[in-house]
Amino acid sequence: AFDVLVVGGGPAGAAAAIYAARKGIRTGVAAERFGGQVLDTMAIENFISVQHTEGPKLAAQLEQHVREYDVDVMNLQRATQLVPAGDDGLVEVKLENGASLKSKTVVLSTGARWRQMGVPGEDQYRNKGVAYCPHCDGPLFKGKRVAVIGGGNSGVEAAIDLAGLVAHVTLIEFDAALRADAVLQRKLRSLPNVRIITSAQTTEVLGDGQKVKGLVYTDRVGGDAHRLELEGVFVQIGLLPNTEWLQGTVALSPRGEIEVDAHGRTSVPGVFAAGDATTVPYKQIVIAMGEGSKAALAAFDHLIRTSAP
Ligand code: FAD
Repeated sequence: AFDVLVVGGGPAGAAAAIYAARKGIRTGVAAERFGGQVLDTMAIENFISVQHTEGPKLAAQLEQHVREYDVDVMNLQRATQLVPAGDDGLVEVKLENGASLKSKTVVLSTGARWRQMGVPGEDQYRNKGVAYCPHCDGPLFKGKRVAVIGGGNSGVEAAIDLAGLVAHVTLIEFDAALRADAVLQRKLRSLPNVRIITSAQTTEVLGDGQKVKGLVYTDRVGGDAHRLELEGVFVQIGLLPNTEWLQGTVALSPRGEIEVDAHGRTSVPGVFAAGDATTVPYKQIVIAMGEGSKAALAAFDHLIRTSAP
């Protein structure tokens, strides 16, 4: 059995594995896709102390750093069930391939995925004008025209944030009214370079083969299609935590995020969590790494308090 088993191999999981292995304890990482969301990212300019890097490069460095240590890396392994510790004090993680892993402590770091619009052009122009993270990619659109899709809190926050950076923001909401908090809506409506379009369904992202040139939306009241010329589309219709497999075992928030305390402890003894899959706000690489490190240290603390001498 492991002392610390990390489930998920993104920034949070990699940090947890390194911090655990550095304590000289038996450490394993099981990940569906080592590298996580970082693999889908192009330019990264907010990974502090590294002015510029690219996702696939950072993902390779994460794996290299983990492999410097005595860590059992199990890539392409999807966890399907967590079984809390019984009398033997071991938590069990069942894998899709039928195998099962046992560990004294577990760090859950299965991350999240952005909900996509599912319209033509969205995939084709991902990272070529279609973006999901205003904190990450906002500065790339300085002085340009962008749309934000989604009028919930994250969409309206993104529109306010982007309005300070870009030339013009069009916020597109599917429903007849925005769903964001009133204070955010007031702030948004006070900005001179923002246009709000409600009852609008985005149906296509347009481009020239290289990058985004515009989008098409249908007016859900009149039924006619409209075309907007712009350079960027920020999709803000939800971040979905990869926690479906934990339903019923670990306490989740109404959004499906794993509830953690300041030490990264979950509702299940010996089970910790870190990164985008948790209730910790602001989903970013540096934050996920910090939280992963913290969860591993908390797991180590748990081990020295509960293991026989
Ligand atoms: P993830 O990176 O999501 O990793 C989750 C890991 O868990 C993966 O290995 C996955 O395969 C695995 N997994 C999931 N389910 C299971 C399962 N059931 N069993 C086993 N393994 C599982 N952040 C920045 O700071 N700067 C940026 O510039 C930036 N740009 C971004 C651009 C894009 C396009 C995207 C999508 C995100 C961007 N982010 C950026 C956000 C950043 O990538 C995330 O905050 C960060 O990767 C979260 O790390 P994580 O380890 O919590 O989760």
